[in-house]
Amino acid sequence: MKKGQLPSKICPVCGRPFEWRKRWARDWERVVYCSERCRREARRQRTRSALSDEVLLNHEQQSSRGRGSVVVPYRVQPQR
Ligand SMILES: [Zn+2]
Repeated sequence: MKKGQLPSKICPVCGRPFEWRKRWARDWERVVYCSERCRREARRQRTRSALSDEVLLNHEQQSSRGRGSVVVPYRVQPQR
């Protein structure tokens, strides 16, 4: 085993390379982000885009149904 030859990856959120750490020994394969902060940031972005897709879809469905139908109010739960 060579020293100083730790595997590394590039974090897609901050774009910086990060090295293997002991706490990732068990699931290094699944580690994608350099830190908990970046992981959360990526999740936040994904959630936001998924939510806007949903709103868009809902809007399209409502407009294609045309007038005269009962419009169910679409409520967005505020995030805490
Ligand atoms: Zn990062």
